[in-house]
Amino acid sequence: MATAPPDTAPVIDRPVSIARLHGEACWFCGNVTKDLLPAGSITLLGGTCWPIVTCGCSPAAVTK
Ligand SMILES: [Zn+2]
Repeated sequence: MATAPPDTAPVIDRPVSIARLHGEACWFCGNVTKDLLPAGSITLLGGTCWPIVTCGCSPAAVTK
């Protein structure tokens, strides 16, 4: 049974790859060769919200 992603996007306080922010790579492992699926969104410390994607290696919820 799938769980819905949280309404509030987690705040990321570390540098992240621009490819991941642009949905060109899996947010969790950086994979670019698999089909990437929407995995909610994250918020950077500056307040910018970005949609993220996952290759399926991790649950959609962002926990770190
Ligand atoms: Zn992945």
